Formats: sequence, C-alpha cells, structure tokens
Amino acid sequence: MLYLELAKIYERLEGTSKRLEKTSILSELFRQTKTEDLKETVYLAQGTVFPAYDEREIGISSQLVIKAISVATGISIIDAEKKWKSIGDLGKVAEQLVEKKKQSTLFSKKLTTTKVFENLRRVAEITGKGTVEKKISLISELLTSSSPLEARYIIRTILEELRIGVGEGVLRDAVIWACFSERIGLHYNKEKNSIEVENDEAYSECVNAVQEAYDLANDFWAVLLAARKGLNALKEIVMQPGMPIKVMLALKVKTVKEGFETVGKPAAFEFKYDGFRLMINKDEKGNIKLFTRRLDEVTRQFPEVVEYVKKYVNGKSFIIDSEAVGYDPVKKKYRPFQEISQRIKRKYEIGRMQNELPVEVNVFDILYYEGKNLIKRPFSERRRLLEKIIRNEKFKLRLSRQVVTSNEKDAQKFYNEAVKEGEEGVMIKNLNAPYKPGARVGYMLKLKPELNTFDLIITGAEYGTGKRSGWLSSFILSCQDEGELLEIGKVGTGVKEKEEEGLSFIELTKMLKPLITEEQGRTVKVKPRVIVEVTYQEIQKSPTYSSGFALRFPRVTRLRPDRSINDIAFLEEVEREYERQGRGR
Ligand code: ATP
Repeated sequence: MLYLELAKIYERLEGTSKRLEKTSILSELFRQTKTEDLKETVYLAQGTVFPAYDEREIGISSQLVIKAISVATGISIIDAEKKWKSIGDLGKVAEQLVEKKKQSTLFSKKLTTTKVFENLRRVAEITGKGTVEKKISLISELLTSSSPLEARYIIRTILEELRIGVGEGVLRDAVIWACFSERIGLHYNKEKNSIEVENDEAYSECVNAVQEAYDLANDFWAVLLAARKGLNALKEIVMQPGMPIKVMLALKVKTVKEGFETVGKPAAFEFKYDGFRLMINKDEKGNIKLFTRRLDEVTRQFPEVVEYVKKYVNGKSFIIDSEAVGYDPVKKKYRPFQEISQRIKRKYEIGRMQNELPVEVNVFDILYYEGKNLIKRPFSERRRLLEKIIRNEKFKLRLSRQVVTSNEKDAQKFYNEAVKEGEEGVMIKNLNAPYKPGARVGYMLKLKPELNTFDLIITGAEYGTGKRSGWLSSFILSCQDEGELLEIGKVGTGVKEKEEEGLSFIELTKMLKPLITEEQGRTVKVKPRVIVEVTYQEIQKSPTYSSGFALRFPRVTRLRPDRSINDIAFLEEVEREYERQGRGR
C-alpha cells in the first residue's frame, strides 16, 4: 500500500474531533487493506511500529529529527530549530521544508507503508557503533522520497506523537465496524453524527468478543486478522503464559460501607501493599516471565523472583497476579515504592540491587492454571486454588493477607491494622466476580486514607527564574479523554530543590528536556511520557485548561514510572470527584 494513502487517512482523522467519524474513517481503512499490508497499516495507524505488548519504542529525540530534516532538505540545523520554535510541530516543519525542496527536485520513488515501517523498525532497533548516523540516514532516506504530507506524518510517527486523536476505544470500534457491521445491522449517519444498531444482542456480543480478544492479545493486528475471519476466530485467541496480559484495575471508594455496597456481602478484604504490580507467567516448558502493569518484561531485573516462583508455587504452568514490595534486608523492614521503582528500569548491577533491595512477592490472583483459563471463574474459587498451590515464605513469596467478612466493624478493624502496619490501605474484592483484564470495573476496590490524588501526565513545563533558571520548575499536567490529553493544571509544589530530598527539579528537567516538542519563550511542550502522582485540595471548574477543570493546591508526591499513558486519570474520574465534593462528602 502507498504510504500516501495512509497519510491522507491521517489527515482526515486529524481534521475531525468527532469520535464516530474517526471510527468510520478507520473502519474503512481496516476493511479495505489487503491482508499482506495489514500488519504495517494497523501499527502505523496507531502511530507505532510495535504492538502494545512489545516494550520497544522508536525512541528518537527532537534534536536527532532536526538533524535528519537538515540532511534531507539542506536547511541548516540553526534554521530548522528556528522554524521549529515558530511553528511548534516538527511534523509541520518537515512538511514545509519538503514542499520547498520539491519545487527544485523531483522525488523518484513512491513510498510504501512497508518501506516506512521497515525503516522505522530499524531506527528503533539499531545499536552499537555509528548508531546516530545510521538513524539519521534511515530517517532522511524516507524524507527524501516523501511528499510534504507524508513528511508531516513520518516525523510525527518517529516522535511518537501522531496527533490524530485515536485511542484504544476508537480502534476497537473500528475493528467492530469493519468486520461485523452487517451482522449487527450497524448504520452510521455522518450528518447526524449518530449510529443505529438493528441487533443489540449481536452488537454487545461483538463488542465483548473484540474487547476480550484485545485484552488477551494486546495487538490490534492479531485481533483484526481474527475478526476478519469471524467471531469464532476471535474467540480462539487464547491465553498463553509468556504473553503479557493487561491487569485488572480498581475503583476508589471512600468508606468500608461504600465498599460493601459496591461488591456485596460477604467481601474479601486484603492489604493493599505499596509496591508494584507483577504478573508472573510460567509456561508449559517451565520458562518464567515477569511483566509489569505496563506490559514491560522485567524478568532479568528480578532474578530472585524467578527463583521464588520455582520454589514456592506449585504447578506446571500458570499466570498469577501479584504485588512486589521492596524491603530492607538488614532491618527487615518494608520500603516505600519510590525506592524499589529504580529496580524496574535497571539494566546493570542487577545483582547488587537484588542484595540491597530485595522484593517480597504478595500473590493475590490467578488467571490461568495448567491449560485452563480461569478469568471467568469466581474470585473465591481462584483464591482457593492459590491457597492450594502456594507455600508461604515471608520476605520471599506469599499469599496476600485476606479476611472475608460481612461485618463492617471487622472490616474497619482490618483496615486500621493495614494502615498501622504501613500499608497503603485495603483492597475490597467481590467474591463472585470474574477477572477482567484491562478493565477498571467494580470487582475490586481500593480504600486508602489519602483520597485526593490523581496520576497525571506532564505535557508541558516552564523554565524557572532566579535560582531555578535553567531548570524546568513548573509543570503542566493532563488527564485523558477518548484518546486525547486534556490539561488540568500546573504544579511546582512537591518537587524538591535538592536531588537527595526526592524527586527534584534537576531530575525532572533531565527527564523532560529530551522530550521537548515545542518551545516558546520560557514555555515548552513535551511528549507525554512522564507520569506523576499529584495530590490536591479541591477541584475547581476552570476555563483556562482544556479539561475544563483545575486542581487547587496541587502537589507532586511521586514519580510513577510503572504507569503508562492509559493509566492516567480519565476526565470522567475528575468529573466524578468534582461532583462528589459538591455533595459535601
Ligand atoms: P493509585 O495509587 O494512583 O491509587 P493504584 O496503585 O491504587 O493507583 P489501582 O489499580 O487503581 O492502582 O489500585 C490497585 C493497585 O494496588 C493494583 O494495581 C496493585 O498494584 C496494588 N495492590 C496492592 N495490593 C493489592 C492486593 N492485595 N490486591 C490487588 N491489588 C493490590
């Protein structure tokens, strides 16, 4: 397929903010693309060259892109930077420069999606000597053969910022529209911006099948390929230990009573450990793999966990869900998440880290056991199985602490005990519920003393003045809605002056600088990558920020390297909290 066709689709997607229209445009693409082009097309349509479960990234900085633009179009680096500052978007800079160049030369080859895909994969994968030069040459090769419109989207894809407003929800619906419209009797009316569904039952069946398949596969290409063959093929996408699966998420409640109201009586109460989520997989051959909730593989970083799993979990193959908590091996005391978070990304000195900050694994769920998918089985049954197969060993691997009760007083007592022991709070679980990968449904709830917090992503920042000049000192925060990021406030409080004191301006500046995509005066925009936990006193309505809300007295409490963009607060949650405070809590 010609890349230009895809670029035109991007342009149409960028040109509308209507979700249904985006779905329709994308479903047309999904319907028409030939099978041999499908893989490239589906990944590129998501602005990437890897499936979601793959932890690899294109990972190119704006500076390197500028160099490649300079090589391809002949503009000097200084002039390219100037243009970038005035236009903002490097994709548009490339588009204009290619347009100018086009008038003097004729580009020879037509770009195909395969060519773009292959070059970008190589850009992501090259390592070793001469890496930078090779990357520049792969990018400039694409730019030399591209039309202005293609240049815009090639550059944005490289920077992993396509700006077409397509999230997982739209992709899922596009797969449904593309493959099951006839079965459902689905009609889209562009003028009215509405859809009509003739067969509601078939509609929910298809939505569930596509969503479930995606939750297991984490790869829209695999899902679309199966969906084209029909519902049965989708259902054949099965759970496989060794392939990462999205974890089930929790809703917040404010009291034990509210917890019981949501999950029913009796309910399971468990300690909410302050660590990080670890999905542990063992396949039929005995290979053990560990994944974070972002689906990154961290097996190498935690060799001790692999040993514990071999020793303390009985079974040929399984997928178990757990929270790993760091502890001080000398004082035998648990340590907060911030300390252990350094181990997640660690590539070197793994042995030393393991000795200094080992982890204890607290297992709380099981999704698969010896060939059987258990996610539709009730939680109480899954827990019973865990009790059979796990041998508890403190500071190594054990079952999460749990009580099952219908009594509010007992539950409250358990909660108080958890807080006293330094845990974050408790989880409250529905005993009859299935496990829903990737979903934040009311099957498990969290109850914590600190209520006013959101995980938000930094999308911009401002350079400081005076003693903070040279450092980014104020950070623009965003939440998400339908695949779009919406600003919700600015924060500087909570970030420390000195590196020893915790998350500092220096550290944040170092992380954000390579992510800058636009710069105007002291203000910069950054690629949305850095996620922070923010507490606040109150939510206010605000015309200043695109979310329509602002946080009063926000304070950064910690970095969340274990979170992905899909984990940040949804606008809906912000609205819900806003309503709640209105009711006087
Ligand atoms: P935040 O801290 O921003 O509220 P969170 O860590 O609470 O986010 P959620 O998914 O909303 O994230 O809450 C559940 C998380 O709590 C799980 O992802 C898991 O990492 C952690 N956790 C700790 N103990 C348990 C437990 N016993 N059962 C389930 N999850 C647990």
